[in-house]
Amino acid sequence: MPLIYIHLIFDVLLIGFIFVFDKELRNQFLKNKLVLLWLSLVVFGSNIIDIDHLLANPIYDPNRCGINFHPLHSWYFMPVWVLGMLFRNKYIRYFCLAVLLHLWLDYMGCIGLL
Ligand SMILES: [Zn+2]
Repeated sequence: MPLIYIHLIFDVLLIGFIFVFDKELRNQFLKNKLVLLWLSLVVFGSNIIDIDHLLANPIYDPNRCGINFHPLHSWYFMPVWVLGMLFRNKYIRYFCLAVLLHLWLDYMGCIGLL
């Protein structure tokens, strides 16, 4: 299965995971259904970090490991995503969580588990 589908499946699972464990968000959702749309945009939008592929040549190479090759996928940038989890705004936290999930999936692809 192409990695992009796996990313999308795990993004859906992450949204479900967040809804199970974030009671406040669930309560907001009962009042305003747009909360789910906003959360979905944030989680699916985390795949925007793949924009750093545009700096590479070729843009996409299935045999290349993106971790440490692309700037936003590098270990040097990892503290930004981890520290982003400390933000008070939960959507920033969930964005960073989704990015870390994205990087983990990319890494699993690198070591051949996906
Ligand atoms: Zn990626």
